[in-house]
Amino acid sequence: MGKTSAGAEAPAAEKAAGTKKAAATKKAVATTAPAAAKKTATKAAAAKDTAAKKTAAKKTAAKKTATKTAAKKAPAARKPESRVAMVRRARRINRELAELYPYAHPELDFTNPFELLVATVLSAQTTDLRVNQTTPRLFAVCPTPEDMAAMAPERLEELIRPTGFFRAKTRSLLGLSAALRDRFGGEVPGRLEDLVTLPGVGRKTANVVLGNAFGVPGITVDTHFGRLARRFGWTTQEDADKVEADVAAIFPKSEWTMLSHRVVFHGRRVCHSRKPACGACPIAPLCPAYGEGETDPEKAKKLLKYELGGQPGQRLKPPADYPGQPAPPMAAP
Ligand code: SF4
Repeated sequence: MGKTSAGAEAPAAEKAAGTKKAAATKKAVATTAPAAAKKTATKAAAAKDTAAKKTAAKKTAAKKTATKTAAKKAPAARKPESRVAMVRRARRINRELAELYPYAHPELDFTNPFELLVATVLSAQTTDLRVNQTTPRLFAVCPTPEDMAAMAPERLEELIRPTGFFRAKTRSLLGLSAALRDRFGGEVPGRLEDLVTLPGVGRKTANVVLGNAFGVPGITVDTHFGRLARRFGWTTQEDADKVEADVAAIFPKSEWTMLSHRVVFHGRRVCHSRKPACGACPIAPLCPAYGEGETDPEKAKKLLKYELGGQPGQRLKPPADYPGQPAPPMAAP
């Protein structure tokens, strides 16, 4: 029992010693832990600071690069430009657009001057696609000025209804086809001064017909051409005739017709009215309006239209060298 009690005392002492040691260790740990934690925290803070500094430096470098790229992409925006420099830049834009769209062409389907004249009148306030989807049926019913002039207005209205403003357009078509029959022997005249005397035919329509059916150079100022000419800094005018005069003073006559097609092609595919795809625009370095639209290359790519964006074009019967898909016929109602 005494053994037992001695034996019982010894573990108690050991236990007491053990407890003291443990307490001391705990204390030591408790004393050193905050210091270590502090050290670690300081180290972490320093590392964080360095990382933040590095990120900031990286950001500044990226910003600098972006600024440099933007400056490189839009040199025309950097300083006021002399007339000579603007003309040089304008002609370079034309050359680059020629490389980009070697297949540029009028986007209205036609097989003769009369069809082109009618299609151009119908294209007011609507898309070329809609006109191209409408004219096959129209020309099947009235292929000549004489046929069209003899049509009942209601029947003509019904045929051209999909192009919108069909009452006013019907009046123009009946008037111009009667004028062709009565004043020009049923033929479309090949002179601007004659064309503009026809009902519903202004300079734009006359230039389209002259340039594409008669090979007479003409600048076609439609909504796309006017918008891009202003973005390119070729003009500040809003009026189509004034835009035409400004652009005519920059380019040789021999370029007028194809220039018109290329600029309109670019306007339809890349340099859209509301969302120009600046980040995917091959002529961005020559354009003072770079940045007016989306500059992120991936996002901009998604804005591209027609053959550049992989969608069908405007013509149901495009020329043989057109690299994209033909437009589909009108969907059945
Ligand atoms: S898409 Fe942008 S950069 Fe290209 S022509 Fe239009 S405004 Fe200029």
